[in-house]
Order: sequence, then C-alpha cells, then structure tokens
Amino acid sequence: MRLQIIGDPVLHSKSPAIHGAMLKALGLDIPYTPQVVRRGELPQYLAWARENGVTGFNATMPHKEDLLPLLDELDPAARTVGAVNTVCLREGKWVGFNTDGAGAVAALEGAGLNPAGLTVALLGAGGAAKAAALALSAAGAEQVFVCNRTPDRARALCARDPLGRLAPEGFDGETLRRCAARSRLLVNCTNLGMAGCPNQFEDFSFLDALPRGAAVFDAIYHPARTELLAQAEHRGLSTLNGLPMLVNQAVLALEHFLDRPLDRPAMAAVAAAALNQM
Ligand code: NAP
Repeated sequence: MRLQIIGDPVLHSKSPAIHGAMLKALGLDIPYTPQVVRRGELPQYLAWARENGVTGFNATMPHKEDLLPLLDELDPAARTVGAVNTVCLREGKWVGFNTDGAGAVAALEGAGLNPAGLTVALLGAGGAAKAAALALSAAGAEQVFVCNRTPDRARALCARDPLGRLAPEGFDGETLRRCAARSRLLVNCTNLGMAGCPNQFEDFSFLDALPRGAAVFDAIYHPARTELLAQAEHRGLSTLNGLPMLVNQAVLALEHFLDRPLDRPAMAAVAAAALNQM
C-alpha cells in the first residue's frame, strides 16, 4: 500500500508532511509521496498507480476536475462540487471524494462556529469557494451570498446547490458591504492576500458593515495572518485562518484512504503540529 499527492506543481505541497505525521502517529508504515503529473497525463497515471500499489492519492491543481470522467464512482460531495481532492482504490474501482468543503465546515465548527442557520458572505467562486459554499449549504447555512468578480462563475456555482441556499452576487465595494451587513460570517475564498498573489482587496470597508460579533474566515493559510484577518482583528471581529481547513481536509482524506474512522481531534492535532514544524 502506498499513498501519493499528484499535481503540477506539487513538490511544494504540505500534504506529505501532514499525512506522514498522521500515519506515523497511527503506527503505520505507509509511504505518502508527491508525484508530478502534468495536465493530460491522468490516464497514464491511473494505470501506473494501479500497477504500482498506489491505493489512494490526493489531487491538486490542475487535476481536481479533470479526474471526474476517469473515475468509477464519486461520493455525493464530489458529484455536487464537480471536483475531487481524494481518490481511493476500492475493490478494483477508483472512487473519488471531495473533503475540502467538509474540511472548511469542520474548521469552523472547531472554532465554535456552527454554520447551521447562519447567513454567510462568501468571497470567490473558484475551487475552494465551490467546495466551501456547497458544504456550508449542506451544513444548514440559511443563505450564502457568493460574491465574485466574474459574475458567470458565481451564477454557475450557485446553480450547483441542490438546496437553493446560494445566491450569486458581485464583487464591487457596495455589494460586499450590503452582503456583509446581512451576514454573521464572512469567508474569503479568493486569492487576494495569498503569498505570491500580487493583488489585494482594494479596501476593507465591507468589514465595517459586518454585525457586532461576526466572524471572518480566510481560507488562505500562507501567510497565516493575511491583511484581511489583521483588518478584521483590528475591528474586534473573531478570525480564523485556512490552516484548520487544510488540516481537517487531510484528516477526512486519511479516513477515506484507510477506510475507517479516526480520532479526528487527535489526528488534527498531529497534523497541525507537523505544519508548525515546517
Ligand atoms: P481559484 O480556483 O483560482 O479561484 C480564485 C478565486 O479568486 C476566483 O473566485 C477569482 O475570481 C478570485 N480572484 C482572483 N484574483 C482576484 C482579484 N484580483 N479580484 C477579485 N477576485 C479575484 O483558486 P482556489 O483553488 O479556489 O483557491 C483560492 C484560495 O483558497 C487560495 O488562496 C488558496 O490558497 C486557498 N485554499 C485554501 C485551502 C485550505 O485548505 N485552507 C484549500 C484550497 C484553497 P474570478 O472567478 O473572477 O477569477
């Protein structure tokens, strides 16, 4: 048995360290390694993986959507989101899962933020936003405003929600302030503020519109404290960065790889400690 993460680029990924630490803590001698797989090379990779004892892998850019038609089965979250981040070989069949959204919800719950009944302003409509928005809806959020620069992507994301709790919105300052004013939770799933991204929010006045006691969750984990979180803290809002989402999606992926439930808080602590040592 061996596990991998595939992508291009992938050698920078933190997943080998996180999974390696969790496997070691479980006393399992199972290798988890990064593997560069270029766009278009997935069929060859799947054949190679099957022949070489790979029983599970995580997928990152650019494969999360391209994998769908190549797999034998999809779990409901992967089907709803239209992307997979975890693939397991089960009785000879490749089965795809998406743990990103559940990881985001677990991160929020771990910080005492139960999404059930909440109105949420979610910024972005890319891969992370899709997983998070649909998981928030499934977790019972009352309404999620999906605010995105490209309106068609926000509309397409909202149309995927079987529960009809997502509403597409724009990304201009006035729209962000209007949505924030109605939300108890603001979630950033854009690249703005991410290390290596040249762009930043033009202004943070939408944070002033959030009601007292609201929380701000930034899916970005590098840097650990984005300018958005710094500005939110400065306004007395509670904040959460993307590290617990990263950790929780990995714990849920490992449960799929091993096909058994794990002590999630204990595994999350092991994974977080591994990240802190990097
Ligand atoms: P993606 O699919 O490329 O989506 C990027 C999103 O950012 C899109 O909605 C895009 O809007 C928006 N955006 C980019 N530049 C913008 C700008 N200048 N102004 C306004 N909006 C802009 O990326 P992704 O995979 O979803 O990742 C998004 C963020 O989430 C990244 O920072 C990543 O680090 C983080 N993330 C965290 C985790 C975790 O486990 N914590 C997991 C996955 C991703 P358009 O649609 O208009 O282009």
